[in-house]
Amino acid sequence: MKTNRRNFLKNTTLFTFGGMVLPQLSYSNMKKGSLPQKGLQLSFEPYNLQLKHVFTLANSSRSTTPVMLIKIKFEGFTGYGEASMPPYLGETQETAAKFLSRLNLKQFTDPFRLDEILEYVDNSATGNSAAKASVDIALHDLIGKILGQPWHKIWGFSAENSPATSFTIGIDTNEVVKQKVHEASDFSILKVKLGRKNDKEMIETIRSISDVALCVDVNQGWKDKQHALDMVFWLKDKGIEFVEQPMPKEMLDDIAWLTENSPLPIIADEALQRLSDIKATIGAYSGINIKLMKCTGMREAHKMINLARANQMKVMIGCMTETSCAVSAAAQLSPKADWADLDGNLLISNDPYSGMKVINGKITLNNLPGIGINNS
Ligand code: MG
Repeated sequence: MKTNRRNFLKNTTLFTFGGMVLPQLSYSNMKKGSLPQKGLQLSFEPYNLQLKHVFTLANSSRSTTPVMLIKIKFEGFTGYGEASMPPYLGETQETAAKFLSRLNLKQFTDPFRLDEILEYVDNSATGNSAAKASVDIALHDLIGKILGQPWHKIWGFSAENSPATSFTIGIDTNEVVKQKVHEASDFSILKVKLGRKNDKEMIETIRSISDVALCVDVNQGWKDKQHALDMVFWLKDKGIEFVEQPMPKEMLDDIAWLTENSPLPIIADEALQRLSDIKATIGAYSGINIKLMKCTGMREAHKMINLARANQMKVMIGCMTETSCAVSAAAQLSPKADWADLDGNLLISNDPYSGMKVINGKITLNNLPGIGINNS
């Protein structure tokens, strides 16, 4: 890869930007014939993630997650991307293959024209947000590799500002919950999945063996606002930091009432997907959970952070069960987040990549260019 970058730098003019030498941000002015003019080459393959534990949410259980791994090649550089498609979100390897095979990325001969390329991708079909995210991630990886810089640096973020990441403890028997808490001893905050009849028992089981910081994700599991408020006060006494999606997203007025009366921040997750959904959450929630697979990728996620901040909302960066590819892409944004829930790669046993590491519970970004991954 270094050789490719040297060749690229040799073949293009350079200019200085903020003290850093960058290759020119457009291919249009390059000397004719210095590089062959070929468009972006997209390829993809389905892959099944094996989960270390059966994963139980308020409404479902599963032991695998289907993903699509993609590559975009351009002038000797390769950008990697991923679409993770947990079944409850409606995308499958088949829908992703259909969406990706219809894209004509060869028409684009300048990967830096992200606006134009991603607008084309977004407009080529509705939905397909994870498949769209896979293209966005691969393009960011490609561009970062051409520039020789990781995205957190291109955006101007300070890596040391990345928060601790939570590690998720699914709904389970007391013995399994205790075992999972022991396994998660490297983490400084745990996310506990609630929303069933044994909510208090789950928390009390963890508190019987650990005083680690906790947050909870109810996944819309509470249906009554007074019960939700009583639970939030009870959770505050147990040292919980915030509550994610306590009630069904449709119950917006009840959620706004809960947020107004809650001693803990109430974070939206299922209630929003993309930039345009933030408007409805303002005033009803204290913050938002941004996930690349829901919002179509890094470029839109960055815009969502800015919009949330402009409305004094808290920001959490989350993920699905994913390989280190998509998790490391999301981690590039983590220096701007209050909380991170980027443990998706740690929940699987067959990660084909290595990238962002969790060290002493904290997201630790590396200096690898692009999204910061290697094929392991
Ligand atoms: Mg959630």
